[in-house]
Amino acid sequence: MTINPALFTRLPAPAARNVAIRVTPAAERALRKGHPWCYESAITHQSRDGAPGDLAVIFDHNRKFLAVGLYDPTSMIRVRVLQHKKSAQINTDWFARQLEKAIKLRAPLANLPEERRTNGYRLVHGENDGLPGLIIDRYADTLVIKLYTPAWIPYLKSVCTALAQLHPAERLILRLNRAMQDQPSLLYGLSDGIMLSGPVLDGPILFQENGLIFEADPVHGQKTGFFLDQRHNRARVETLSAGKSILNVFAYTGGFSVYAARGGATHVISLDQSAPACEAAKRNMLHNQHYPAVAAAVHKTIAADAFEVMASMAKNGQQFDLVIIDPPMFAQKRSQIAAAVSAYRRLTQMGLNVLQPGGILVQASCSSRVDAETFFNTIHRTAREMGRPLQEMERTTHAPDHPITFPEGAYLKCLFAKVT
Ligand code: SAH
Repeated sequence: MTINPALFTRLPAPAARNVAIRVTPAAERALRKGHPWCYESAITHQSRDGAPGDLAVIFDHNRKFLAVGLYDPTSMIRVRVLQHKKSAQINTDWFARQLEKAIKLRAPLANLPEERRTNGYRLVHGENDGLPGLIIDRYADTLVIKLYTPAWIPYLKSVCTALAQLHPAERLILRLNRAMQDQPSLLYGLSDGIMLSGPVLDGPILFQENGLIFEADPVHGQKTGFFLDQRHNRARVETLSAGKSILNVFAYTGGFSVYAARGGATHVISLDQSAPACEAAKRNMLHNQHYPAVAAAVHKTIAADAFEVMASMAKNGQQFDLVIIDPPMFAQKRSQIAAAVSAYRRLTQMGLNVLQPGGILVQASCSSRVDAETFFNTIHRTAREMGRPLQEMERTTHAPDHPITFPEGAYLKCLFAKVT
């Protein structure tokens, strides 16, 4: 993997001078416990205005070193901590050490038997792998690096150099989150979806997850092209699907649907408002026709609003044996939590209205602002109020390539429950 040098010469070098910061007692306590964020509102003193990517050194009330991190004046998360407790030289070697740890954590995935072969997974999970605001996903021989803050730009070359040494790949693609795309003046010519190295992509990439073949479009697709965080939940659905009719709501490119089909589902519907996602779901089913169960399953896609379709299915008396509801994030801010909880409640109602007696509800939330207890309680309360209490089978979180090291990192929760 050779890094495209022309791209990197335009990028700023890391600033020579640090920003010294002091914070409130509460923030000091959180940082001592290893929390990776320092909010703008927690800063009490600051030595100078900083630019994105300046190194911020946070001192405690005795002016002792607390943490060092990346400064971002464009975000409420003003500093993303790279290292706590003792100071560090933040350079290619430091990034290489972090990457090495992350790569080691995923090493067991390489030892899966051929029939569970998995070469699409998260290699670096941001804060939870000590690289806050930076994600690296692998799709076969392609790596996708996604940035959530412009503070990474001065370090991009170092990160890519370390990555090329430790985990060479045919191609490295850059993705930028929405907030960064909206601020081109901070991007030094970088843009969402560009190739940082390797040949330009001329179509979706094929990769394997638990032996199944999926395509992902890492240049245009949601997240980095696939919802890798649901891998374990998809595998659970496979074990529950034999002989069943399945409704996969918010299906995206049909991840859950293909697993359900391999698990022996007779009928699968993939419902998503995105027509291109539904087309990809059809293709993902076609990529796996060598599995007799997938070939035998009847798959249908519906490109429409989930709430409307589920309401009309219920009205028409349509029923399923297993319903998967995996909606997009509903609460980005604290002020949206109540609306998110009421959307989860409506989805539980709608799901139960199209579930046979004895059927299985699989409902997920990826809103980190809605905590697990609130989410699970909302589903159970809603079901009881409908006179269809749920018998819980399992509560799950992320797949292990999405480690959780701080409370906000635990965004994904999923309930598997039987309607009694
Ligand atoms: N379950 C998927 C990921 C779902 S992501 C997987 O395992 O890959 C959420 C999906 O919800 C997106 O594909 C988005 O297009 C879809 N979506 C968002 N709002 C919707 C709505 N109102 N009706 C139907 N689909 C919606």
